[in-house]
Amino acid sequence: MDDVIQLTKRERDVLSTAVKFGWDVIVNGRGVAQWDGDALMPFRAFKTLDVLIDRGYFERVTYMRAEWYRATRKARDLKCSHCQDGRTYAEDEATGYDAPTGICESCGGTCLKPNTDDQRDAAPGVDNG
Ligand SMILES: [Zn+2]
Repeated sequence: MDDVIQLTKRERDVLSTAVKFGWDVIVNGRGVAQWDGDALMPFRAFKTLDVLIDRGYFERVTYMRAEWYRATRKARDLKCSHCQDGRTYAEDEATGYDAPTGICESCGGTCLKPNTDDQRDAAPGVDNG
């Protein structure tokens, strides 16, 4: 759990996207990588992905001729328990539906547990929990 603190902002961004939305990085038949296979969300951060794989947060999966990269259990365990997608919600009295009210204070919108954010100055071995 503690080594996630040493991730760079870019690494946390990739991890956050995968954990927040449950998306995989999917490589299509033309060798193009996209978040969730969506052409509107190209993925190019393979150096970052390699680091996350080394650290056990992502795994490469191949099946038949398909190839994709998905967040591991270790990564999903980092999901913020105070929100669904980095935002807070409250029931809108006019519509009766939940509407976003702001950024989750616990995770700052990353949807990763608080101790994954900007605590690189914390002394090693200090228990933040
Ligand atoms: Zn949150």
